Amino acid sequence: MADKDMWSKKAAAFTSDAKIFIDGKYCDAASGKTFDNIAPGQNRTIGQIASGDTEDINRAVASAKRVFDAGTWRDMNPREKKIIMLRWAQLLGEHREELAFLEAIDTGRPISDALSVDAPNSTRVIQWYAETIDKTYDEIAPAPRNALAMITREPLGVIGAVVPWNYPMMITSWKLGPAIAMGNSIVVKPAENSSLSALKMSELASAAGLPDGVFNVVPGLGAEAGQALARHMDVAKIAFTGSGPTGRKMMQYAAESNMKAVSLELGGKSPQVVLKDCVDLEAAASTIGWAIYYNAGQTCNAGSRIIIEKEIKDELFHHLQKFLKTFVVGDQCDPATQMAGLVSTMQRDRVNSFLDLIGQEGEELIFGGQKTSGDDLHIQPTLIDNVKPDSRLAQEEIFGPVLVAIDAKDVDHALQLANGTQYGLAASVWTSDIAKAHKFARKLRAGTVWVNTFDMLDVITPFGGFGASGGGRDKSLHALDSYSALKTTWVDLN
Ligand code: NAD
Repeated sequence: MADKDMWSKKAAAFTSDAKIFIDGKYCDAASGKTFDNIAPGQNRTIGQIASGDTEDINRAVASAKRVFDAGTWRDMNPREKKIIMLRWAQLLGEHREELAFLEAIDTGRPISDALSVDAPNSTRVIQWYAETIDKTYDEIAPAPRNALAMITREPLGVIGAVVPWNYPMMITSWKLGPAIAMGNSIVVKPAENSSLSALKMSELASAAGLPDGVFNVVPGLGAEAGQALARHMDVAKIAFTGSGPTGRKMMQYAAESNMKAVSLELGGKSPQVVLKDCVDLEAAASTIGWAIYYNAGQTCNAGSRIIIEKEIKDELFHHLQKFLKTFVVGDQCDPATQMAGLVSTMQRDRVNSFLDLIGQEGEELIFGGQKTSGDDLHIQPTLIDNVKPDSRLAQEEIFGPVLVAIDAKDVDHALQLANGTQYGLAASVWTSDIAKAHKFARKLRAGTVWVNTFDMLDVITPFGGFGASGGGRDKSLHALDSYSALKTTWVDLN
């Protein structure tokens, strides 16, 4: 891996004016409007981004619909489709460094993380879905012998994907992979903070031979481009990842337009439950620390609550303090950095507003907790003890490096606390008793449960939540179902 000086020089010199990608070509917004692209880790504006609005969304959807209706991609021989998607994955791999750099510049995350996690994982997702194309079979129903009843998966048409800024490239790939593999066309609306990686991905898709119009990217403001996409009458489905309030709007837009399908991947307040029979509290503390502080806590499934049986609390806190001494917070360009700053001053101020709550209901600060201001987006890893289960600190998604601790009287109480928020995205339980682990895991209301670990994630398993975390599922073969509709065709054999 290149060194800190090399990345620092590159980041300091980097500028980029981003456009819109429609029908295989870059263009300006029809209005000519742009907005600033701020690199949070560099504290400067690196260029302008074309600010798409209704007219640009109309152009993008028209292009996506044109290619879908013509069948250019949808009806292509599956083997050919697979070759094109695999070539695209190969190009993504070849451009790994550039993609990782763009991602890190846009989000402020450590460049080393973008290189080792975001870029390779996104590539793998496209490659994995490419491989499904010529391995996905349809069904024949057990109809009477004088009839043939075929159940086929049909692509939906034009997919609108609205994605957030915390893992832009990975989350975009979770939509692109199954949507394109199933034969749909797609229009992606990236978050305002992070348009660069999606644009590069579309350019590389084109270079790989994906027909023009299959994959379009329209950067812009949520209330303008995002809303126009979600209200568009020719969009068959909105695949949304982001906050709860915006998710609610997506459902409203769909209801008020063409009743398009909506899949929602929203926030979380994931519990990490540590039971007193957990044998290795030192190892647990390290995993628990990573589970909340990775990406500065800006992770939808971040393990932001620890629910802990009192008897082992002091020892766990001791190990968390030790973990913290080795955890490097710093400059995104330094390969040694494990946690960099937050994505924006707005997000930093939001986290600050939660830090203001410490002490108001008897909470005790164990470490961290200092607010920052001005250009400083680095909030130190924070642990708050004695948090009341019904307080805002325990109930609301902070989306920063803030871990809250809640005491559990026993196992049943721990379960009740773990399930005691509106969310249900992920959860973990730490115990040495395998039967207890299974019983506990079954009762956890969460889309992903980890036993004695956290953050094991892969394209091979579905990801999504219960309740206010949204009911959509990205990844795995199951995601193919949400980008297709079943069609039954009866043939009379008499
Ligand atoms: P956000 O809801 O503010 O924005 C998400 C996207 O929606 C952006 O592209 C934005 O431009 C767009 N948008 C905003 N307002 C809109 C509107 N009125 N109409 C249409 N589009 C609109 O969320 P965010 O702050 O970018 O992301 C953070 C949130 O995303 C957190 O709550 C986090 O938990 C969640 N998230 C969930 C998952 C998951 O898979 N469950 C993954 C990552 C992030």
